[in-house]
Amino acid sequence: MIFKRQRRILGTLVDQAVLRLAEKSKSKRSSTKSIHPSTLVICPRRVYYYLMEEPFELVKDPRGLRILENGTKVHERFQTYFQEAGILLASESSIKNEDLWLSGKIDAIVTMENTKYVVELKSIQSGKFKCLTSPLKAHMEQIQLYMHCTGIHKGIVIYENKDTQETCEFEVNYDPEIANSLINRILTIQDAVKTKQPPARVCKNIEEGKWKFCEYCPSCF
Ligand code: SF4
Repeated sequence: MIFKRQRRILGTLVDQAVLRLAEKSKSKRSSTKSIHPSTLVICPRRVYYYLMEEPFELVKDPRGLRILENGTKVHERFQTYFQEAGILLASESSIKNEDLWLSGKIDAIVTMENTKYVVELKSIQSGKFKCLTSPLKAHMEQIQLYMHCTGIHKGIVIYENKDTQETCEFEVNYDPEIANSLINRILTIQDAVKTKQPPARVCKNIEEGKWKFCEYCPSCF
């Protein structure tokens, strides 16, 4: 039997479904605006637009949306593994700080040898995985904020290679200097909201914004 790649039939239906699901989740966006650590560490300007309820355009890239969703599904798998390993204390546990307008969810809190750890789970491309010698800056910052808010001063950032499912992990200690710099970033955003002056762009051009799946590209550039 000779096979040849056929016209995308299922793939097209899946792409349409992905876009419809994205549209539905857009309408479910919370009306209570808060600062999410995962966005804060990527771009303060994006947080500003979100807080200001700037109209946004859904990223109409089904493949990109599936990449993002894959990342979320990694959390579920690892939470199940931690549960089975008997170390899971909490998954997707909420953090909130009203003064800082901050809210988020911690991927997992685990306990090993009587020590609690905040865990940040990430999936990453092979090329980047091979080069890891420390947590990436954004991930380091994210976990520092979680450690700051929970008072658990030990953390682990664990990466899974998207292509091979290998893992590597880095233990991270709380660093008040990094946490304070993030709090200052939040204060800057709060000022920006009050003065209606958006913080500086972090992207060099609109293409970079699209590559980051930023829904505020049209407002930003
Ligand atoms: S396009 Fe880039 S700089 Fe502009 S808001 Fe989005 S992430 Fe930030």
